[in-house]
Amino acid sequence: MDSAIVRTTLQLVPTGILLIFGISFVGAWLMDRKRDYLLVLAGACVLFALGATSQTFGWPPGTGPNAIVSGALYTAAVVAAAEGLLRRSHKQFGLDVDAAIVAVFTVLLAYYVYVERSLLARVYIQNFGYGLILLVTALRLSALARGRIVDRILFWVLLVFAVQFFPRTLLTIGFSAPTNRAAFANSMFWQTLQLSLAVLGAGLAMAILAAAVADVIDDLQQERERDHLTGVFNRRGFEDRIARQLRKGQHSLVVCDIDKFKAINDAHGHDIGDMVLQAVARALNQSVRKGDVVGRLGGEEFAVLLPHTDAGEAYECAERLRAAIADCAFEQPGLAVTASFGVATQTTGEAWAPLFKRVDARLYEAKRSGRNRTVSDQPGASAKAGEAMPYAVSGR
Ligand code: GH3
Ligand code: MG
Ligand code: MG
Repeated sequence: MDSAIVRTTLQLVPTGILLIFGISFVGAWLMDRKRDYLLVLAGACVLFALGATSQTFGWPPGTGPNAIVSGALYTAAVVAAAEGLLRRSHKQFGLDVDAAIVAVFTVLLAYYVYVERSLLARVYIQNFGYGLILLVTALRLSALARGRIVDRILFWVLLVFAVQFFPRTLLTIGFSAPTNRAAFANSMFWQTLQLSLAVLGAGLAMAILAAAVADVIDDLQQERERDHLTGVFNRRGFEDRIARQLRKGQHSLVVCDIDKFKAINDAHGHDIGDMVLQAVARALNQSVRKGDVVGRLGGEEFAVLLPHTDAGEAYECAERLRAAIADCAFEQPGLAVTASFGVATQTTGEAWAPLFKRVDARLYEAKRSGRNRTVSDQPGASAKAGEAMPYAVSGR
């Protein structure tokens, strides 16, 4: 077969792979349409494939127009890839900066085609320029290096992809500076460029796609595990987390139930009732320590798991939570909210069901003995916490 045909076919393979990635990004977007950055990344794939096709088939014809059109397409692709990655992390260069970058590159390329004819200058502008855009992007995304494993992989692949533009261009040009277009296509520079773009580009696209899929899966998981109204874990999410945690160490469980909530709904309406639930969840979230797990078990009942916490500390914590709820201020005249608390501390290896049964019995006791109080399952827990009560009951 004619070697030109073989070369053209080989050049089309990375283009085809890129288009497949483009389609995959659109597919991921269809699963979760609020993630617009996926469309930007799909656009980057298409732009890059168009740039490569324009170069491979020499369209538009003529060295000058071809260099400028393919250059503009490649630049737009790199900018779109950078923008897509930034948007994924709620950052951006902005459309004006994107347009300015493409315009500057295009003008520079045109200058080195029509004013001062220099293939080398164009090679340096494109490669160092793209390296720089991606390097700035990677540095702005450095938080990814401390994120999930997919984010960390994405960060390092992006960094390597950005940095390789510099030594690769210098080394390959240094070894074999191409002088004209025919020599250029056979040069070590061009072939290394093709290979590194194909391998590293596919690696980068794969890393981005993996991170995007992980985002979508995380979102679905959140949907499953979170309570829509208050944002804390729902019963399923809470129990899943607890089941994992209870196996190691000794923990305490706090359960609270809003007092006379039905009366609040009746007096102020269901919407205000919902607002009270949100305020209570916020108060709990703001008063727990890092690592404590807050969940809404249903209706107006919440639970907090306190990892590695003994009975005395758990009682103190419940009292702090109770005060935080009682201190919630509402605009509605006459609206005051209190809650009753049950506290139990895990016995060695105790599972969720018996632990919950014990804490629920304490909550019931708190209700029966007057509400707006905390009852612990361990007599003396409150004494340790500075209270002089025989049976860990406290009210305000
Ligand atoms: P107690 O002090 O004994 O706990 O009395 P209570 O009125 O809080 O308890 P009860 O179980 O009689 O009433 C709970 C009410 O919570 C009844 C139900 O309509 C209301 N409720 C449950 N889920 C929601 C919700 O998502 N939003 C609102 N606004 N109300 C809810
Ligand atoms: Mg209640
Ligand atoms: Mg209840």
